[in-house]
Amino acid sequence: PVNNLKKRQLDLSRHLSVEAKARLPNPIKAIWKVAQVKPGTINMGNGDPHHTLYPVCEMNFIVPSVSESDPVQAWRAGTGDQQIIASYKDEPCALSLRTALAYGAGAGLKHVRDALAELNDRIHAPPKHMVSLSLGNADALTKCYRLLGDPGDSFLCEEFTFSAMTNAALPLGIKWVPIRMDKDGLIPSDMEKILANWDETLQGKRPHVLYTIPCSQNPTGSTLSAERRRQIYDLAHEYDIIILEDDPYFFLQYDLDIQTTTIESYGYTRAMADVLPRSFLSMDYDGRVMRLDSFSKILAPGMRLGWVTCNDFFAEKLDMLTDSSSQHPHGLGQAFISELLGGEGWGIDGFMKWVSSLCREYQRRRDLFMDVFRREVESSGLASAETPKSGMFVWIKINVERHPRYRKSEKLDKPGAPVTNTADLMNELFRKLLDCGLVMMPASTFAIVDQTGRIPTDGHITDRVNFFRATFVGTDEVIEDGLKIFARGLEEFFCY
Ligand code: PMP
Ligand code: PLP
Repeated sequence: PVNNLKKRQLDLSRHLSVEAKARLPNPIKAIWKVAQVKPGTINMGNGDPHHTLYPVCEMNFIVPSVSESDPVQAWRAGTGDQQIIASYKDEPCALSLRTALAYGAGAGLKHVRDALAELNDRIHAPPKHMVSLSLGNADALTKCYRLLGDPGDSFLCEEFTFSAMTNAALPLGIKWVPIRMDKDGLIPSDMEKILANWDETLQGKRPHVLYTIPCSQNPTGSTLSAERRRQIYDLAHEYDIIILEDDPYFFLQYDLDIQTTTIESYGYTRAMADVLPRSFLSMDYDGRVMRLDSFSKILAPGMRLGWVTCNDFFAEKLDMLTDSSSQHPHGLGQAFISELLGGEGWGIDGFMKWVSSLCREYQRRRDLFMDVFRREVESSGLASAETPKSGMFVWIKINVERHPRYRKSEKLDKPGAPVTNTADLMNELFRKLLDCGLVMMPASTFAIVDQTGRIPTDGHITDRVNFFRATFVGTDEVIEDGLKIFARGLEEFFCY
C-alpha cells in the first residue's frame, strides 16, 4: 500500500478539516480585493475610515545601525551608530502609513510578503510556495490545526514538546501521538514504526500531520541532522503526511563556519544560507510542508509577527481563515518591517548581518552556561547536559537513580506502566529548587497529556521525566547565580 501511495498525486484537499472545507470566503473582502487590483477604482463600498482622519502622520523607530562590524555588541555597549526607521502617511517611504493603517488582506501587505518571500528564496529556495503573515508562530499553529484537524484526528509530535501549543489542539479534538526522541531529536525509525503498525480499526484515522520543532526543539534543545530531516521527509512522502515545521529558533545557530570570503563576495544572506540547517521547506518538492517562521526570537516577541510558507492551496484556505478572524497583523508592525527590510532600513542583508551577530552573542551565553554548568553542576555527577547547537534551551538530565529514595520495581503491574518513582522525585526537586529561589521547567510540563490533562501512564514517559529545561538567554549574572543555586539545591536534595 505504501508504494501505491508513492505513485499517487498529492491530494491536498484530503488533508483539510471539515471546518476548512466549510469555510466561505469573506464576501466583503472578496469585493474589496477586486477594488485593490484595479487602479483608479472609486471604492464607495467598504467601511474603511478615511486616511486623512488617522491621528498619525509619521512613525520613527531608532534602531542600531548594521554598519558596525559586530552590531549586537555595539548596541549592547551603547557605542554603535543608530539609525531612524521612518514611515510616513503622506511622504514617500517603502510602505505608506495610509496603506499600513488601512484594512488589508489576511495574507498581509504585499511589501512585507515580498520582502519575506525574498528572504525565504535566498535561504530555503522553496519551489512554488506562498508567504502569508501571521501574528507569530502560536497564531499560525492554532490556525494550521483548524485548517488540518478534525475531532478524532491523530497528529504526530515529539514526545516532549511545546505543550502550550500541543494543548491548544486538544479542545479541537485532536489527539497527539508522541514519537520517541534521543539526544538528536525525533527518531525517524520510531515514526516509521508508529505509521507502519497503525491499525485504523483500533486507533482511528492514521495520522496525516506531523508537528515538529526542528531547531532547538522546545524543550530538549536538540537540532535535527540533515540526514534525519531527509528520512522524516521521505516518511512524510511515503505516508502522505503534512509537516508543520515550527521553526522560531532557526536563525539562532551556533558554531557556524561562516566564510568571510563569501560575505565579501556575496553578502551575509548567502554566507548564512550556506551554513544554516536545511529546512523541511527547502526539500519540499511535493508541497506538504507548512513552515512557520517568527520574528519573536530574533527581533522581539511583542512584535507578534511571523510568516507561514506553504503551497498555494493551503495558503488560500489559511488566508480565508485570517480574513474572517484576526483580519491581518497590525499595520504598525508591518510598516516597521517594510522599512527595516526594504526602504532606508537594514535591507535583507543587513538583517542577516544582525542575525549573525545575534548568533555570536547567544553562542557566548551558551558557552558561558555550559562552562559554569560543568564547573558547578556536572562535577557532582548528579546532572549532565548536551551542548545545544541552536536556540535557547539546555535539557538537563538529572541522574535521579543516584537518589537514596529512588525505587525501581522489578515486577511490572502491566506492560508499559511506570516502574520507577522518577516523577515523584522530580516533583520534589522542582519544589526544592523553587524554595531555593530558582525556577527550571520540569520535563513533565512538556510531556503529551490526554484530554483530561493527565500524562498517560502507558508509555514509560513518567520514568523518563528526569530532565529540566533551562535557558541561557539571561545575563552572565543570571547564569552564574542560577547555576550555583541549582548545584546547591541538587546536592542538598540528593543528600537528604
Ligand atoms: N464587527 C462589525 C459590525 C464591523 O463593522 C467590523 C468592521 N467592519 C468588524 C466587526 C471588524 O472590526 P475590526 O476591524 O475591529 O476587526
Ligand atoms: N513554537 C515554539 C516551539 C516556541 O518555542 C514558541 C515560543 O516560545 C512559539 C512557537 C511561539 O512563538 P511566537 O512568539 O512566534 O508565537
